[in-house]
Amino acid sequence: MADKNMGEVILKAEHLTKHYPIKKGLFGRAENYVHALEDVSFEVRRGETFAIVGESGCGKSTTGKCVLRLTEPTSGTVTLDGVDFTALKGAELTEARKKMTLIFQDPYSSLNPRMTVADIIAEPLDIAKTYKTRAERDARVEEIMSKVGLDLAYKYRYPHEFSGGQRQRIGIARAIVLEPEIVICDEPVSALDVSVQAKVINLLEQLQDDLGLAYIFISHDLSVVKHISDRIMVMYLGHMMELATSEELFANPCHPYTEALLGVVPRIARERIQDKKILTGDVPSPANPPSGCCFHTRCANCMRVCAQRAPQEREVSPGHICACHLYDDTLTEDERTPEPPVVTKVG
Ligand code: SF4
Repeated sequence: MADKNMGEVILKAEHLTKHYPIKKGLFGRAENYVHALEDVSFEVRRGETFAIVGESGCGKSTTGKCVLRLTEPTSGTVTLDGVDFTALKGAELTEARKKMTLIFQDPYSSLNPRMTVADIIAEPLDIAKTYKTRAERDARVEEIMSKVGLDLAYKYRYPHEFSGGQRQRIGIARAIVLEPEIVICDEPVSALDVSVQAKVINLLEQLQDDLGLAYIFISHDLSVVKHISDRIMVMYLGHMMELATSEELFANPCHPYTEALLGVVPRIARERIQDKKILTGDVPSPANPPSGCCFHTRCANCMRVCAQRAPQEREVSPGHICACHLYDDTLTEDERTPEPPVVTKVG
């Protein structure tokens, strides 16, 4: 198997930041901001699966939306095939958007109940006007239906006639019909039964092999991500905490937050982690993020410096990046003084 980690970079997100204003008063002036995404950078290579993992509200879905420009980033850039995607407008943006699509989390609400399967799958073709005749359109729909394992006899049926797994196959068919380079999978199996999850993941892997797709796979479930990902980025409160190959992250987690996440994963070799660090307290409000390291209010390794300034991202081994003061050799004795967090509750 080719080493996907050495493949060509097709997408580069640099310093992506998204702040949502909290408006109040007659004139809707911004009183505060929700810091959904803070200075996040990463690359996606051709044919790889790049996973983004974290608890609910950590900014993983916002990252996907900013990459696709479903929401405009407050700052930062996304480069797609060497072109600044964030600067594109009009026809150029429409053309570039064909290269990136999205599979939604909920196969129940993401399909229009009044459209047939054929029309749902053909919708991107209709918008992009990529066919000359109706027969061409139909042939493409049938080709994609076969690829995702949908019976052609179901072509003129409606979404409510299908199970969750079949609906997600329809969503996947719609996402790949324009032959994208990158598919953003936003929790694509979390609404499905465990037995169906494996089938959908196998399908995604099969399609990746056949079509050379790159996936940005967003999930809160490390056990799902472990098996499908080439590289994993762990996020917390809008920040990148750790980034490594899947193998390296599970064998040698460096960030206290990743260790804590692994400690609460039920299906992955928990025995490997001798000293389990279980997460205590709630995720702080992104409208009022903690000073310094955003994880310091829950970190079992917290030191005096952690509340004072944010850690820099450091390469702890080749390709393994970690944002934590534990790897800063320049700290003074005073800065290293342990200061365990006071457990806080939000709300
Ligand atoms: Fe914990 Fe400090 Fe590292 Fe943040 S910087 S993860 S608080 S040790």
